[in-house]
Amino acid sequence: MSLDSLDPIVSLAKRRGFIFQSSEIYGGLSSCYDYGPLGVELKNNVKRAWWRSMVQERDDIVGLDSSILMHPTTWKASGHLDGFSDPLVDCKKCKKRWRADHLLQNESIKPKFRPEHSSEVKCPDCGGELTDVRRFNLMFKTFMGPVEDEAGEIYLRPETCQGIYLNFLNVIQSMRKKLPFGVAQIGKAFRNEITPGNFTFRTREFEQMEQQYFIHPKEAKKVFKVWKEERRRWYLDLGIKKSNLRFREHEKDELAHYAKAALDIEFSYPGLGFKELAGVHNRGDWDLSQHEKFSGQNLKYKDQETGEEYTPYIVETSDGADRATLAFLADAYEEVETRSGEKDGKHEKEVVLRLHKDLAPIKAAFLPLSKKEPLRKLTAEVQAKVRRDYMTQYDETGSIGKRYRRQDEIGTPYCVTVDFDSLEDKMVTVRDRDTMEQARVAIEELKIYLDEKL
Ligand code: ATP
Repeated sequence: MSLDSLDPIVSLAKRRGFIFQSSEIYGGLSSCYDYGPLGVELKNNVKRAWWRSMVQERDDIVGLDSSILMHPTTWKASGHLDGFSDPLVDCKKCKKRWRADHLLQNESIKPKFRPEHSSEVKCPDCGGELTDVRRFNLMFKTFMGPVEDEAGEIYLRPETCQGIYLNFLNVIQSMRKKLPFGVAQIGKAFRNEITPGNFTFRTREFEQMEQQYFIHPKEAKKVFKVWKEERRRWYLDLGIKKSNLRFREHEKDELAHYAKAALDIEFSYPGLGFKELAGVHNRGDWDLSQHEKFSGQNLKYKDQETGEEYTPYIVETSDGADRATLAFLADAYEEVETRSGEKDGKHEKEVVLRLHKDLAPIKAAFLPLSKKEPLRKLTAEVQAKVRRDYMTQYDETGSIGKRYRRQDEIGTPYCVTVDFDSLEDKMVTVRDRDTMEQARVAIEELKIYLDEKL
């Protein structure tokens, strides 16, 4: 079953505490979202899985957490002040504003908007004529210090990677790193998008998971191919269906100002079709050369063995934590015929979120068969044995079938039921979300059982 719109995901996200509209009580702030109690767990698990595969499991990549506010010259050097803009067109009739490259993509015209295209595309809403293209800089500007003047002008970073380039020397010197090596970081980025929307797919404040791999220029093509496969494999290993992923290579005239080669990993978002989930970019020596020029610092690398001195090339992997979280949610979402046995007509369809166990917000739910003591007390004692290691939830309201359904809907892989027999035989029933198989497990062995399963 595949969804034809994001609506069921948006509805589940709100109903079950994954994602809420920001500032809802004031009518909401457009394109800004808050991650609720389960959403923050899910997104943290996505980020943790990324960090584990990028930093923890590798010797050649180290982590960083650089500040959002950076020296304003950073953005002059990086080209963002002059070039980080989107092509904007307005409808002359209904006044609606559009991103020209997106309109072209809808018409299957190559994404770079050229003047001759203006006449080929009309307003998708009313069919009206569009204005000529204007460039609109996407950076959010603010002021540092008490005086709002030009000297205090500063930007919220539109991408996290610049903090990595500015720390290139610090990392090399402090970590005694030799090329090739990478630096990874996760953090917020801000873009004043012309047309945000489609839930958390395009927002003005979002989180990126970026990794910059510093290499000898002659390695660039090979390394680019390796990262392309690595990034795809990461999504597949975490359960994304192969048919929902594809690559899209950027054409030469579509490349960003810094890129020598670029590729999108696209996910088939319900209702949106294949859209960019992540990118792999060969940024050449653009970034380090520019920062060298503007800072006056030598950012070249000297190979101690060969004596060769050069500006490293960079192959970047750039994943959006929010787009990834939305992809995992959409990919895992499944509506099934009732399977929990309560055929009372109210539950013909049930939702099962088949999230990878590493990503599931709650790993095990603890359900006493009855609210009465001593079952309550025993359930709390059993839960206490594992809650230090795993996120757990306690639920005593409603029938067991209803409680299983609630957990299936949020993707909990295991439900642990404590019944009256448990008082005597010191065993509990563990139910598997996907197979619905039930196993009787000794309370003393439960932690080991879950360790093996999870
Ligand atoms: P798009 O073409 O969709 O605007 P982009 O090519 O500008 O994206 P990059 O600059 O390559 O995106 O950013 C890297 C990653 O950051 C993207 O693959 C995406 O996952 C994420 N990202 C970028 N812009 C947004 C946004 N407005 N909202 C949420 N995530 C975003």
